[in-house]
Amino acid sequence: MKAMKKIAFITHPQETHWVGDGFRVHNFIPYVPGLSMKEMDPFILLDYNAKMEVSPRDIPGGVGVHPHRGFETVTIAYEGEVEHHDSAGHGGVIGKGDVQWMTAASGVLHKEYHAREWSKKGGIFQMVQLWTNLPKQDKMSAPTYQSLPHQGMGRYELPQGNGWVEIIAGNYDGVQGPAHTHSPIALMNAHLQQGGKAAFSFPAHYNTAVLVVQGNALVNGQEVPTDNFVKFENEGEEFTVEATSADTIVLVMSGESLGEPIVSYGPFVMNSKQEILQAFEDFNTGKFGYLAD
Ligand code: MN
Repeated sequence: MKAMKKIAFITHPQETHWVGDGFRVHNFIPYVPGLSMKEMDPFILLDYNAKMEVSPRDIPGGVGVHPHRGFETVTIAYEGEVEHHDSAGHGGVIGKGDVQWMTAASGVLHKEYHAREWSKKGGIFQMVQLWTNLPKQDKMSAPTYQSLPHQGMGRYELPQGNGWVEIIAGNYDGVQGPAHTHSPIALMNAHLQQGGKAAFSFPAHYNTAVLVVQGNALVNGQEVPTDNFVKFENEGEEFTVEATSADTIVLVMSGESLGEPIVSYGPFVMNSKQEILQAFEDFNTGKFGYLAD
């Protein structure tokens, strides 16, 4: 018999800040107390662009060329379209339900912005950017890129037309998500009809949280409004999510902490201060490659 996971706390979104001129985000990880990199590892950053209206513009909003080393950036589009290019030659456009999973590892330069064609029309925009930490042994591997369109996600139909669980990474009741991960990570979106309920089970020691992306939900029977974030205790395995509104979407994340030292500075997340200094040195001497503005 498995035990229920207890909710540690529910937090509303903090004040927004802009990332470049395209992404107006609420940060949850690492700046909310209780959601530091160490406390949520391997989830070391979560920026949430709640729904916003974007006016039509010819030059898409976004953020210009910048480096990353030592982790992965996982971008989930809910509304609108995001375009990405990196110095390893990868790139693409993602729209509703699509995910791009960029393993920066030893280092890339990239830029990310609203997709050019979408930007001309504008509209409602909503996305999540999550950073997943890499084990020490993978931090200096070659960068890779996974394009994960929504059609390729794992899909588990909940009984009685309650909705479905879309699995990006990890496993839900035998259905596997397409993402390759470097440590045990589950990442999924529960799409629930009003009154629809889904149960989740992850090992007690995994760091586990949910974000209500659309609609309102009960998590273990506790009310969680839109755009709120729930952190679980590292005790018990199971929890439930139930929609109290139509077309509810809840992002679920759970992962095993790498248990390694975390030293971060801006776009670099390594294991020691020495490795951070090396990242600056390598960036300044052009070792991250080249990407045009
Ligand atoms: Mn970036």
